[in-house]
Amino acid sequence: LLSSDGRVAPTIFAEMSAAAVRTGSINLGQGFPDEDGPAEVLEAAREAISAGVNQYPPGRGAPDLLAAISEHQQRFYGLEVDPATEVIVTAGATEALTATLLALIDSPEDEVLVFEPYYDSYAAVVALAGARLRAVPLRVPGFQPDLDELAAAVNDNTRIILVNDPHNPTGAVFGPEVLAEVVRLANRYDATIVTDEVYEHLAFDGPHVPIATLPGAAERTLTISSAGKTFSTTGWKIGWVHGPAALISAVLTVKQFLTYVSGAPFQPAVAVGLRLPDSYFADAAAQLSRKHELLGGALRAAGFEVHSPQGGYFTVADATALGGADAAAFCRTLPERAGVVAIPLSAFVSPERQSSYAGLVRFAACKRVEVLEEAARRLTALG
Ligand code: PMP
Ligand code: GLN
Repeated sequence: LLSSDGRVAPTIFAEMSAAAVRTGSINLGQGFPDEDGPAEVLEAAREAISAGVNQYPPGRGAPDLLAAISEHQQRFYGLEVDPATEVIVTAGATEALTATLLALIDSPEDEVLVFEPYYDSYAAVVALAGARLRAVPLRVPGFQPDLDELAAAVNDNTRIILVNDPHNPTGAVFGPEVLAEVVRLANRYDATIVTDEVYEHLAFDGPHVPIATLPGAAERTLTISSAGKTFSTTGWKIGWVHGPAALISAVLTVKQFLTYVSGAPFQPAVAVGLRLPDSYFADAAAQLSRKHELLGGALRAAGFEVHSPQGGYFTVADATALGGADAAAFCRTLPERAGVVAIPLSAFVSPERQSSYAGLVRFAACKRVEVLEEAARRLTALG
């Protein structure tokens, strides 16, 4: 985790956001919205601060938020979650993932299976937990795994199958046969399924399907999500994890020594958000989908080959036809050339698999329409 001169290496997101500020570029790198989310949610946080909700909340989370998460899982997915024993609030999905992996890994032989490319914290946390990362590649186009390759990657040492759906960075939503195979393999090898569903409300081709709703899954699945993407509050860092009570107790045991608790006044505000009418959630997905279409159109006009996403903040595009066969090099010069910052997929890929994704670039679509239109003008000038 340290760079060769011993300094803490910045994450790719911090590095690229700094490049955007330095060059005055439009930042389509790090995934965060440039607009505030629902007024009711923001107002609820202000009210909570005024009402004195400023001290440590309970270790599991504010009871009202635990109840709201349980109601939300029932309303959208028909999942039963006991708010007293089967869910805890965390400092974002990041802490939920970290505490879960630290809690479940007990031997250096343990393996965590992920799909590659993968979100940057996964490999770091697997390393911190002292386990082995095993990655199954997602295939271009479509970014689905090959089911035989998936089956071949699971073995008696597989402790966790970690599935991010909808997927960052590729924008894939995994098909029912992929999800069913994950459940089958987890049962066969007695592995725990850990899901990262932070983009659950940003699926464009139909409702999101949590793995925990599949037959034989709930009793071995820890479902993780957070408020950041759903309510455009990425800086609040309110997340949660739910699943069987015994697993949640294990995660809580670790979590209490990571942060103990966090975000007291944001917790009731997120509860308000989770109780917003269905139309809020549907509109958020529809608006983001339109932004992806705008961005995708601009990228095509500039000469990129676009992989339209099925969910999440990001559109992936192949820059090879624009001389970007090495997308990492392409992204380093893009701020100066076009005034736009984007992230090469190589940032989400292990050294061994770099060549499979070499020309691919990730662009964030979660920006105001006028910002995307200006980015479109700048990108079109590239072609
Ligand atoms: N998982 C994925 C796939 C993400 O894209 C992100 C964040 N942006 C996170 C986890 C982290 O979520 P949080 O900010 O709630 O910690
Ligand atoms: N999840 C965001 C992304 O993928 C960034 C989060 C971060 O900066 N760690 O861009």
